[in-house]
Amino acid sequence: MSPPLQLQFVCSAPTASALPPTCSEVATIGRSNVGKSSLINAVCNRKDLAHVSKSPGRTQLLNLFAAGGGGTLVDLPGYGFAAVSKRTRSTWPEMITGYLTTRVNLTMVLLLVDGEIGPTSLDLGALDWLRANRLPFSVVATKHDKVKASRRQRRKAEVAAGCDLSPADVHWVSATKGTGIEGLRGRIRGWLDTPQRAASPEPG
Ligand code: GDP
Repeated sequence: MSPPLQLQFVCSAPTASALPPTCSEVATIGRSNVGKSSLINAVCNRKDLAHVSKSPGRTQLLNLFAAGGGGTLVDLPGYGFAAVSKRTRSTWPEMITGYLTTRVNLTMVLLLVDGEIGPTSLDLGALDWLRANRLPFSVVATKHDKVKASRRQRRKAEVAAGCDLSPADVHWVSATKGTGIEGLRGRIRGWLDTPQRAASPEPG
C-alpha cells in the first residue's frame, strides 16, 4: 500500500532559473484539460492542491511542490491548442523547453495523455520533442473510467501504439475512481528518491 504523497506548494516561477534547487524532480506535462490537476490531487489525496496551479496568474507558470526529503514536483503549464505547431511539432514555449533542458536532477517527465481520446498531434509533438532531447519520460493515460470496460484493453493498445510504446509502458489511471493511482504513487516516490542525471557517469 502506497500512502498519499505529501506535496506542499512552494512557489511559481516564469523560468527554471528562478526555481530553488532540488535533489530530484518529477515534472508533469500535458494538454490543457487532460486531467493533470485532478491527477496531482489524486496522488496526494487532496482536493485542492493542484488548483493552486490554476489560480489566476499561475496557469502559465512553473509551479513547484516539495515532496519532503528534498524531492520536488513541477507542474508545467498545460499546452494549449496552439502551443505546439502541428506542422513542425516542435515549437513549445521557451518556458517549457528552457525548463526541460536546463533543470538539473530532473528524473522523470510524466506526459499525460487523455485515455478516452488517445494521443493528439500535440501529444505526439511533445513525445517527439522529449525523445529528440533524450529526456526520461513516462506516458500516463488519464480518465480510465471514461472508457467502457469492454474496450479498455484495445484502447490501451491503441494509446501505446500511437505513442510508439508497448502497452506495459503506458500507465492508465483514473483520478475520479482511483484506478492505478497507488501504483503511480509508488513510481513517483521512486523517481523522487533517485537522482538520475547527477548520478550519470561522465563519458570517458
Ligand atoms: P487539467 O487542465 O489538465 O489540469 O485538467 P483537470 O484536472 O482540470 O481536468 C479536466 C476535466 O477532466 C475536469 O472536468 C475533470 O473533472 C475531468 N477529469 C479529470 N480526471 C478525470 C478522470 O479520471 N475521470 C473523469 N471521468 N474525469 C476526469
